[in-house]
Amino acid sequence: MQLFSFVSNLKSFLQDEKKSRHKIAFIPTMGALHAGHISLIEEGKKYGDTTVCSIYINPRQFNNSEDLKKYPRNLENDARLLEQANCDILFVPDDQEIYPIGLDTSIRLDLKDLDNSMEGLFRPGHFNGMLQVVKRLLDVVNPDFLIMGQKDFQQFTLVQHMINQLHLPVKLIVAPTIREPDGLAMSSRNQRLNAIERKNGLAIYKSLLHLKTHFESSSIDLLENQVMNTLKDSGLRPEYVEIVDGLSLQRVIHPELHNCIIACIAAWSGEVRLIDNLILKGAFK
Ligand code: AMP
Repeated sequence: MQLFSFVSNLKSFLQDEKKSRHKIAFIPTMGALHAGHISLIEEGKKYGDTTVCSIYINPRQFNNSEDLKKYPRNLENDARLLEQANCDILFVPDDQEIYPIGLDTSIRLDLKDLDNSMEGLFRPGHFNGMLQVVKRLLDVVNPDFLIMGQKDFQQFTLVQHMINQLHLPVKLIVAPTIREPDGLAMSSRNQRLNAIERKNGLAIYKSLLHLKTHFESSSIDLLENQVMNTLKDSGLRPEYVEIVDGLSLQRVIHPELHNCIIACIAAWSGEVRLIDNLILKGAFK
C-alpha cells in the first residue's frame, strides 16, 4: 500500500493509473476503521483496479466541537487493517491540503429538502460540510467508483443528488451495513460506549426490526411514537424515529404508495450519538 499526504503527489500518481486504463474505486472515511469500512474496500476491489481509501476527519461536518475533539483516531491500526485488506492507496491529507487558502470549496446546490429532515435537522451544517469534503475529495481523486455505506443513508442520498446535479463522472455504489454479531451497527463512535451504553444501544436495531414487522399493519405515527418510548425505556435519548421514502426522504403515511421505504433512528447512548437504518420495503439501488 502506498501512503500519500499531499494532493499534488496523489493526483499525479492517479493520472498515471488512469493513463494505464486502471479504474479507480474510492472509499472516503474518517478513520478509526472497523469491519464496516473494510467491507467497503472489498466492495471497491470488485469494481476498481486501484482502490484508494482516504482518512480525513473533516472539521466542517461536525456541528459539535466536543464530538470532533473526541472522535477516535488510530492511524497506525487503520493502516494495518487497510494493508491486510489489500487496499492500494491510503490518502491522509491535513486541513491545508483539503481546504487550501484561496480555493472556493463552497457548495451551492438546491438540495430539494433532502437535508431538511433527520440528520439535517439535528446536525445543522453537517451536510453542507460533508458535501464540501466529498466534492473536494472527488475533484482530487477523480474516481470511477465511489463506495459508501448504507449506514449513513441520508448522507449517500445527498451525495447521489450532488453527483446528479453537477453531472459528476462517478458511479456511487452503496454497500450494506455491517453489524456486530448482536446486531449493533458498527461505528467508529462505538469505541466510546461503556458496557451499559453499548448494551442499551442494541435497542436501536431491535426497534428497526420491530418497525419492519409492523409498518404495514399499524398506523405509522403510532408506531414511530411507540418506538420513541421503547428507546427511552431502554436508557437511550432518541432524537428521531422516522419511516421515510427511500428516494425523497419524505415521511411515509401510506406504505402501499411507496416502492422503497426506510426506517431511520438516531439516539444518544450516554455521550455517544448512534444512527442506524433498515430497509422496510424494496431497494434503493
Ligand atoms: P465514516 O468513517 O464513519 O465517515 O464512514 C466512512 C464510510 O464508511 C461511510 O460511507 C459510511 O457509511 C461507511 N460505514 C460506516 N459504518 C459502516 C458499517 N457499519 N457498515 C458499512 N459501512 C459503514
